[in-house]
Amino acid sequence: MGSRPETRVFNFSAGPAVLPEEVLAQASAEMLDWHGSGMSVMEMSHRGKEFIAIAEAAEKDFRELLKIPSNYKVLFLQGGATLQFGMVPMNLLGGKKSADYIYTGEWSKKAIKEANRFCEINIAASSEGKNFSFAPEQSTWQLDPKSAYVHYTSNETIGGVEFHWIPDTGKVPLVADASSHFLSRPLDVSKFGLIYAGAQKNAGPAGLTFVIVRDDLIGKAAKGTPTVMDYKLQADADSMLNTCPTYSIYIAGLVFKWLKGLGGLRKIEEINTAKAKLLYDYLDQSSFFSNPVAKEDRSRMNVPFTLKDSKLDEEFLKGAAKRGMVQLKGHR
Ligand SMILES: *Cc1c(COP(=O)(O)O)cnc(C)c1O
Repeated sequence: MGSRPETRVFNFSAGPAVLPEEVLAQASAEMLDWHGSGMSVMEMSHRGKEFIAIAEAAEKDFRELLKIPSNYKVLFLQGGATLQFGMVPMNLLGGKKSADYIYTGEWSKKAIKEANRFCEINIAASSEGKNFSFAPEQSTWQLDPKSAYVHYTSNETIGGVEFHWIPDTGKVPLVADASSHFLSRPLDVSKFGLIYAGAQKNAGPAGLTFVIVRDDLIGKAAKGTPTVMDYKLQADADSMLNTCPTYSIYIAGLVFKWLKGLGGLRKIEEINTAKAKLLYDYLDQSSFFSNPVAKEDRSRMNVPFTLKDSKLDEEFLKGAAKRGMVQLKGHR
């Protein structure tokens, strides 16, 4: 592996985000001829033996990393997390009229808006009153037992609020948008009905979306659901009803191997915890920067900070860029 090219910046984008350099270097080495096939992965048939081997290895490593129980299906889909905002109600309502949503910031707001095209929404808990600066405690949730499922955003990317605990919703399936902290820490999949995540935040390139779903929840999609948006039909076809995002699956597969080589999700969690602590400790002792999130709910993955004097924002960003630190300007 070559050393870090001097032209590489420190990229703080939430997503598409930085990828391990080892992964990029390996993809580069295999670009013209993957393992003696004489083809780039981009040029392979998704139904050919070479690509099937790549997809099967990716799923196997993915299942190992997350210790996914055998009664869960793993889907590699397209359309981003945003398509899941609609696919979740299309597939999980099963004739029910409503779903519970936890309202904790910009991404849950979008999930709620989209789901509301399909069903009534019960906002079971919200942090809007405190400017989305915390994760509402489970004891405050007003769940409706008639709801088809409970949806929450386990890491609010823009607000920097992370649930460091898994809610207990009893018999009603729990659904998580885990996009921006997916594979950053171990996850007890058995506590969920469904987990989805766009790859580009933490686990691979854009164009690929992971869905992990308990197998008893699928097979009751609403009438009119397009074939490629039906979890059951995708599961039965190994996510290959049509051409899958082949190159993104390949790169994500390399990321899974990289994570396994590192020591798995416990190890990456250790690294992430230490990295976040370094940054939060610095912000907390500083009179120049601040972070608005309740300490116990701070995200390890997304650390929003503001300058106490916003007139200095432009100058700060310029100075950072000069030092090779880019994409520091978050959402307003
Ligand atoms: C980025 C993001 C999304 C949107 O993802 P797309 O793949 O662009 O649709 C949804 N939810 C969360 C939590 C995100 O961070």
